[in-house]
Amino acid sequence: TFDPSQGYAPICPAFEDFYTRRIYRRIQDCFGRPIASAPDAWIDVVERSSNDNNKTLHRTSNKSRCLNLGSYNYLGFAAGDEFCTPHVLHSLKKYAPSSCSARADGGTTQLHIELEDLIARFVGKPAAITFAMGYVTNSFIIPTLIGEGGLIISDSFNHNSIVSGSRASGATVQVFQHNSPSHLEAVLREQVVKGQPGTGHKPWRKIMVIVEGVYSMEGEFCKLPEIVAICKKYKAYIYLDEAHSIGAVGKSGRGVCELLGVDPADVDIMMGTFTKSFGSCGGYIAASEEIIQYLKYACPAHIYATSMSPPAVQQVISAIKVVLGEDRSNRGAKKLAKIRENSNFFRSELKKMGFVVLGDNDSPVMAIMLYNLAKLPAFSRACLRQNVAVVITAYPATPVLLARARICISASHSKEDLITGLKVIGEVGGLVGAKCLPAEPEKA
Ligand code: PMP
Repeated sequence: TFDPSQGYAPICPAFEDFYTRRIYRRIQDCFGRPIASAPDAWIDVVERSSNDNNKTLHRTSNKSRCLNLGSYNYLGFAAGDEFCTPHVLHSLKKYAPSSCSARADGGTTQLHIELEDLIARFVGKPAAITFAMGYVTNSFIIPTLIGEGGLIISDSFNHNSIVSGSRASGATVQVFQHNSPSHLEAVLREQVVKGQPGTGHKPWRKIMVIVEGVYSMEGEFCKLPEIVAICKKYKAYIYLDEAHSIGAVGKSGRGVCELLGVDPADVDIMMGTFTKSFGSCGGYIAASEEIIQYLKYACPAHIYATSMSPPAVQQVISAIKVVLGEDRSNRGAKKLAKIRENSNFFRSELKKMGFVVLGDNDSPVMAIMLYNLAKLPAFSRACLRQNVAVVITAYPATPVLLARARICISASHSKEDLITGLKVIGEVGGLVGAKCLPAEPEKA
């Protein structure tokens, strides 16, 4: 029981937590490094130093030019583009950086309507709605679609925005083993039987299965065809988060449905973000006309939150046009071919060196397993000393014993960039003991 005479709880409980206090404080320099340039293949990283007791971080103005192996800039649109940038600058002048209004009030510009038509057409659904943030899209749409009396069955590796939306919904949440259609079916079978008359349990009002297209910490594709078949069998709705797959995978960039041969009509709710392949910000939901109409009237993030920034909207419109070849060039097709080629080259070279690498072929996301948390800062710092910026990630974003470096490959990386990155990662991996498998012998 709480005793006020002993004082109230601290305002920042996170720093009372052993894990946060003991570990993250010591490796703070590996996170939130200030960047002084656009998130291109190379970035300017501002050097920081910390004082003795590691409490204050002092910024210095020294910049190092680093190879960027951590950005979600999959198609290379984020650092400006010959087709997108002039249109974005024009929209900035015409509409200003912000609409200063919610969509339902004065925050719907012609650009928002154009983007919603375009993204619906791109992903193959009848209609779409956009939001200013991808995180908000999941955390506000899920509770608008399902609530008390509903059942969410969520992949165990789903993103935090899905977890927070699911918790906020008030629905019962069950987790199935990561990307395991057989476990999903076992959970569904049990829950559907449980929800039948005569069992003493109230029938579920609706059941929604939530998965991601490409898992962002693994680089693995969702087993979507099998999962869609199971959802059909048990009449569960399916919600697919394509944050890391839209634009980046599939022959024409249309994501995992295109890649894995799934008809978009079989996926009830398609969610995605504009912060990765399209080099902008915001999120979308694409679904039937009826669902999108309902979300416009029922979702608080549409009614009460300021709409996507118009220049950000324009950036996405222009980027999708490039991907579709509507800029009258074949740069979009070239970017898609390049990201596949780059990703497959980088992944196979890492494996040849003896690293344990997660992720499927054709996926631009790959994880280099470090396992031991103590290896994370050593790996990150040694790479940075050689001008390679990598993202390291651990609990709670991954299971405790599965700490890793997470690499994101971009179409804007040249072959020389990738060779530079591989050389540094190979050396550093040897130093910190991250090569867990025998290296493949050189072919004669
Ligand atoms: N879904 C997934 C799978 C993500 O990885 C992320 C963020 N990386 C989001 C949603 C949130 O998107 P945003 O960063 O655009 O807000």
